[in-house]
Amino acid sequence: NPNKTFEYRIMPYGEEHLLVVARDVTRVSQLEEMRKDFVANVSHELRTPLTVINGYLEMLPAADDNPFMQKAMTEMTSQTQRMQNLIEDLLILSRIEASSERIYENVVNMPAILAQIEREALSLNKDKHHKIEFHVDPSLKVYGVETELRSACSNLVFNAIHYTPPGGHIQVHWKQDAHKVKFAVQDNGDGIAPPHINRLTERFYRVDKARSRKTGGSGLGLSIVKHVLNHHNSQLEIHSVVGEGSVFSFTLTNDMVAERSAS
Ligand code: ADP
Repeated sequence: NPNKTFEYRIMPYGEEHLLVVARDVTRVSQLEEMRKDFVANVSHELRTPLTVINGYLEMLPAADDNPFMQKAMTEMTSQTQRMQNLIEDLLILSRIEASSERIYENVVNMPAILAQIEREALSLNKDKHHKIEFHVDPSLKVYGVETELRSACSNLVFNAIHYTPPGGHIQVHWKQDAHKVKFAVQDNGDGIAPPHINRLTERFYRVDKARSRKTGGSGLGLSIVKHVLNHHNSQLEIHSVVGEGSVFSFTLTNDMVAERSAS
């Protein structure tokens, strides 16, 4: 039946037989599609009114002589910015979920993307004074979807900057690792306790809600990373020790490498 969706499991049955169990998941997948459409539509509809509010906020004259108005304007500007970040992240997530782009069709110039992320990281780092080092193999390019890989890598780098107390040390690596390629971001921040680690990629999951909100994040960053990596046949690895720091990394298999140095 072309209108039905089935999930199959194949198991050995005795010496010579296989048992095929088919489960009708039509209803579950229809609901899942409706949820995805709903989130995408709501996010899209919220974008325009927010842009209008933001536009007017920027045009309002400065209220230099009125401390209350000054506070109100600062707060309104930062909260609309937060909402805009949230909506952009929801849209990115919907796009990745709906993406049927084939990963082997485009070559992604990771060194160029990481150079751009490094520039953005340095400007984010102004109040944090971290030592930030990028160690990037300049010839290592992979197959994939450029916007998605950019989004995944920048989320991991910006998280390290946000969640490491000032004066920290952050190292970013993009390198050949045995028969694979590896991206890793290491920080010497507060680290994350084991019970939280498995839940970090859930939507809106945060270890410290109040503190994370202050950073202006949407709570969707690591969820985006998880979906992007899933699409690229990889997964996020998190190693973290409380009080010492964290390493967020992923590896891509050899067949994803489009270009590397001759040596
Ligand atoms: P957001 O940063 O918007 O809150 P994310 O999905 O990017 O959302 O991250 C989820 C949570 O994981 C963060 O709120 C933070 O508690 C934790 N986290 C992420 N990266 C780090 C890191 N490098 N060090 C410590 N905690 C982190």
